[in-house]
Amino acid sequence: MNKIRYFDHAATTAVKEEVLKEMIPYLSIEYGNPSALYSIGRKNKKAIEESREKIANAINANVNEIYFTSCGSESDNLALKGIAYANRKKGNHIITSKIEHHAILNTCKTLEKEGFKVTYLNVDSDGIINLGELENEITDNTILISIMFANNEIGTIQPIKEIGNIAKKHNVYFHTDGVQAFGNVKIDVKKLNIDSLSLSAHKFYGPKGVGALYIKNDIPFNKIQDGGHQEKDKRAGTENVAGIVGMGKAIEISNANIEKYNKKLIELREYFISCVEQKIPYIKINGHRTKRLPGNCNIAFKFIDGEDLLLNLDAHGICASSGSACNSQSSEPSHVLMAIGVPYELANSSLRISLGEENTKEDIDYLVNCLIESVNKLRNLSIEYQELVNKKIEN
Ligand SMILES: *Cc1c(COP(=O)(O)O)cnc(C)c1O
Repeated sequence: MNKIRYFDHAATTAVKEEVLKEMIPYLSIEYGNPSALYSIGRKNKKAIEESREKIANAINANVNEIYFTSCGSESDNLALKGIAYANRKKGNHIITSKIEHHAILNTCKTLEKEGFKVTYLNVDSDGIINLGELENEITDNTILISIMFANNEIGTIQPIKEIGNIAKKHNVYFHTDGVQAFGNVKIDVKKLNIDSLSLSAHKFYGPKGVGALYIKNDIPFNKIQDGGHQEKDKRAGTENVAGIVGMGKAIEISNANIEKYNKKLIELREYFISCVEQKIPYIKINGHRTKRLPGNCNIAFKFIDGEDLLLNLDAHGICASSGSACNSQSSEPSHVLMAIGVPYELANSSLRISLGEENTKEDIDYLVNCLIESVNKLRNLSIEYQELVNKKIEN
């Protein structure tokens, strides 16, 4: 059995030792219901509030603007549906982009069925929206703009500050899916004019099953789940105390180490890309060469199928992704790669490598060697590739 080498940090990350350590008591001895009046309940309540404070501090929000949820997807649903339902009298138009995560895109589809109108903005070949087009699409009916902070497949970071300014100027609310950005980009919701922001702990070395939503205080939003009065009546359900504690700790660590972390990931990414460029012909980097999240690489290997490549790499103990994690079950090409104009075939030949904290230069060397071997093997099975090689020999 090969040692596992993990290059899929955009899909999820391992819980850090220090994070797990803080969580464990809340899974065992500190089991009291945070809504209860006895002392072990109160202790849980206190732990939740401390975590809320850590999250608020990390993004420069007020403590009472943070709501805990079960994941990034739930935060996106709560933000979009919550704001749309509560502001329906004001208007029914929402603006988003074509490269959002499905948590946003499918929520928009549901809202369309309920009578909302949604505009899906195009992006350029790097995956960036056009600010002029955004402003042009705003009408008297527009209530909400939802544009992701950073993309999970190609790592593109949007001009968030400019989008925030446009939203503010037109009196429209601005939600951003910050799930992929947090931990790589310093997010200051006040400076960036962000009204609503989704986070998910398992993307920055916290546990799965816990997310947070920041919503600015004066913004009306409805709950979307009925039940008890937890989270100021906005999100019913007994709190995932251990998860919330873990999320707070993970945020604290991540925010304190962001520069060091990014520097390391950029160095590894540049090393990886330069190795691939030197050693493997017929490749294309999807998205901008450098303007992307530090750990994100997305590369098309011409003449081969991305899924076949993944399986070959898996046999070497390598975990990577062919696109977004949620797409690994379907063979449709990624909607993000299609939106940035990558041809169908190349989109299907693409591999996403997302680097993280535990990766080393030695891991990259191993990855590059396995890529060379797997790509050669698969290309030798490709008729199209063979034809190309034969033509070259004839010439
Ligand atoms: C992972 C991800 C989500 C979904 O988060 P979950 O916690 O897995 O539900 C949403 N948006 C983006 C950009 C993501 O990368």
